Amino acid sequence: MILNMLNQLKKMRSIISLVVLILWMVGCQNKSQHIEIMVPVEKIDSAKIEYIMGHFEPSEHEDFVLIPTEYASREGLYLRKETLSDYIRMHNHAAVDGISFTIRSATRNFDYQKGIWERKWTGQTILSDGTSAAEIEAEAERASKILLYSSMPGTSRHHWGTDIDLNSFDNSYFETGQGLLEYQWLLEHASEYGFCQSYTDKSGGRTGYEEEKWHWTYTPISTELTVYAQQFLKDDMIKGFMGAETAPDIAVVKNYVLGIDQNCFNY
Ligand SMILES: [Zn+2]
Repeated sequence: MILNMLNQLKKMRSIISLVVLILWMVGCQNKSQHIEIMVPVEKIDSAKIEYIMGHFEPSEHEDFVLIPTEYASREGLYLRKETLSDYIRMHNHAAVDGISFTIRSATRNFDYQKGIWERKWTGQTILSDGTSAAEIEAEAERASKILLYSSMPGTSRHHWGTDIDLNSFDNSYFETGQGLLEYQWLLEHASEYGFCQSYTDKSGGRTGYEEEKWHWTYTPISTELTVYAQQFLKDDMIKGFMGAETAPDIAVVKNYVLGIDQNCFNY
């Protein structure tokens, strides 16, 4: 009788152990499902995309700061705070070496870029080679011509507050005399402050804008924004100005937004 009860107890213990084991396994499964759900999947952040496309007012944006006029060629230019802070350190180092830098252009939002673009599109502004874009009938061809030097609104790195134009908008200025010394100084020292020439010569297969020896990007911020744009900015989001419908034909995100020197895109 007692032996029988002991056997029953043993059986019950094994059944209980089995139930506990099953419950534990189910628990583990649930846990792993739960963990899967918890893995952060980066979803499109519409506010960030709006910022990347320049839909904001720099003077009202908390991450932006007005550039003091001693560092800029005109009033009313803005940069991201970190960009300006490291720019000033670079500027002061250069001054010690007898090199003088002036920021000619900094943040340009969508509306500002739309003004530049549409004046070129309509022929109100003549292109740098002396021709008028308005005379080109085929719209994708007209857009590509303007894109030699000017960005489509929504696709400019100047929207980001990370990119600056220094001293002159003419490559030949940087090829002789003082301009050459300035450019050589930048090649040697700009990276110490996080700056990189986005649009180098295209012999290495870089797509997009022609070479711009004056345009430098602040990579501690712009690298992350470039990666974000690569993932989430699509050609069909580029709209709201004359000729915007050409963006997908030109693959403007791939060829222009991402068409930067590889040294500026380390991640
Ligand atoms: Zn520029």
